This record gives sequence, C-alpha cells and structure tokens, in this order.
Amino acid sequence: MTVLAVQGVRKSFGGVRAVDDVSFALAAGEMLALIGPNGAGKSTCFNMVGGQVRPDAGRVRLAGRDITGLPPRRIARLGVGRSFQIAATFASMTVRENVQVALQAHRGATWRFWRPADSLFVAEAETLLAEVGMAEQAGRAAGVLAYGDVKRLELAVALAGAPRLLLMDEPTAGMAPAERAALMALVRRLATERALAVLFTEHDMDVVFGVADRILVLDRGRLIAAGDAATIRADAAVRAVYLGA
Ligand code: ADP
Ligand code: MG
Repeated sequence: MTVLAVQGVRKSFGGVRAVDDVSFALAAGEMLALIGPNGAGKSTCFNMVGGQVRPDAGRVRLAGRDITGLPPRRIARLGVGRSFQIAATFASMTVRENVQVALQAHRGATWRFWRPADSLFVAEAETLLAEVGMAEQAGRAAGVLAYGDVKRLELAVALAGAPRLLLMDEPTAGMAPAERAALMALVRRLATERALAVLFTEHDMDVVFGVADRILVLDRGRLIAAGDAATIRADAAVRAVYLGA
C-alpha cells in the first residue's frame, strides 16, 4: 500500500532552486533514505511533506489523499509523525508521563486537564516504552536521561500519535556511531512490526545502507539516483557527488 506519494514537487527560495521536480513514493513498512550533500534539498523535502513548507508546484498525497499545502497540525492529525524536530520531552516529568501526555494529546483530550497524578493511558504508555526498550526507565525523570535514551523517548512520543508515516530529518545528529546504528536498527524493527513508513536522512552511509529498503540521492535539488544499497553504491553519479570526482 502506498502511504506517501510525492509528485513533481518544486520549491525555490529567492533565486535558489532548493527542490526541483522531485517525485517518489513510499509503501507501508518501508524505510526510504533521502541522502545528499549539505544544501541538496533534503530538509525542504521533509518540510513539504510535513506542511512546514508549501511547494511551488507538485502534489503530496498521503494514502491517496491530497495534503499539499495543508498546515502541519492537520498533516500530523492525518498520520504523519515527526520526531526529533524539537526537544519533544518535558524534563521534569517522568519518562512514562511524557508518553501519557502524548497519548492524551493525540486522543484529543485537553492538555490543561492533565495532571501528573492522572492514571490515564498508563498501560499504553508502558507498552510503547517497552517497544522502544525503555520499560525499566518509565519512572525516571526525562531530564536525567542519557542522550540516546532521550532519542528513544522521543520515538515513543512520536509513536503515541499512531503515525503511518514517520519523518526523521537527521534523527541521529550528535550521537556516537554505535548509538546511531542502534537507534536506526530500532526504527527498522518498528517500521517492519508496525507497517510504518519511514522517510529519513542520516549521514552515516553504513547505517543508511544497513537499514534502508531504498535510497534516494539528491544533489542541488534534483534527484540523481534511486535504488537499493547495491544500486546506489555502484552509481557513477552518486560517486561523483560524494567523492567529488
Ligand atoms: P539539506 O537539508 O539537504 O541540507 P535544505 O533543504 O536545508 O538542504 O536546503 C536546500 C537549499 O535551500 C539550500 O541552498 C538552502 O540554503 C536553501 N534554503 C532552505 N531553506 C531555506 C529558507 N527557509 N530560506 C532560504 N533558503 C533556504
Ligand atoms: Mg537538512
């Protein structure tokens, strides 16, 4: 099933063509990596899917529904999760409470009625925390977590919104190589188990090649290659961009 279909999107900022006629599709359970040098247009693509940037041309469809130019909140409600965009956690609350708040916000309950003592969504919060390997840390304050655990908590918070598509723009920025691989392996497992579509970008090519089903390569706003790891590794245009040859 096609979750995301991006068709001929373009975006210019002043005279700069940030994204120039890019098309791709993403199926349920699939992890698609968007890679390319700095300034290639990756974040602009993420922002056009998430609604933060309105395309100058082209369409974005989510499960067949045209979402082009809708505001970010509506797109989120339709099932697009965006993790790691902002510091999504509340330091003084426990890990479990952070997920409870996210569950409650997603179900439409009004925030101001939430109090830490509330027992709403405790079991669901703990299930989500177990999924990201944080069951043991449910009662700890989010503010004292190690960086890699904050990232996993942010993932649980994103999952609380029951997304069918997860947008991850440089989710592992600032992490050590082993932590990066572990976080993306977790995302890989969740994508498969939950039939979650994931669009991500990541600088570590070993991680990209290890977890992505397919890879798209952008250079100066244009899609220069698409395919599986073997195809991308062997692609002459990709080598030229990355090796400067
Ligand atoms: P990437 O994420 O691949 O590094 P971006 O999508 O952030 O690339 O940027 C693509 C191009 O668009 C760059 O030249 C960048 O300077 C420009 N750009 C991105 N966002 C803006 C903006 N809000 N205003 C002006 N220029 C922008
Ligand atoms: Mg970027």
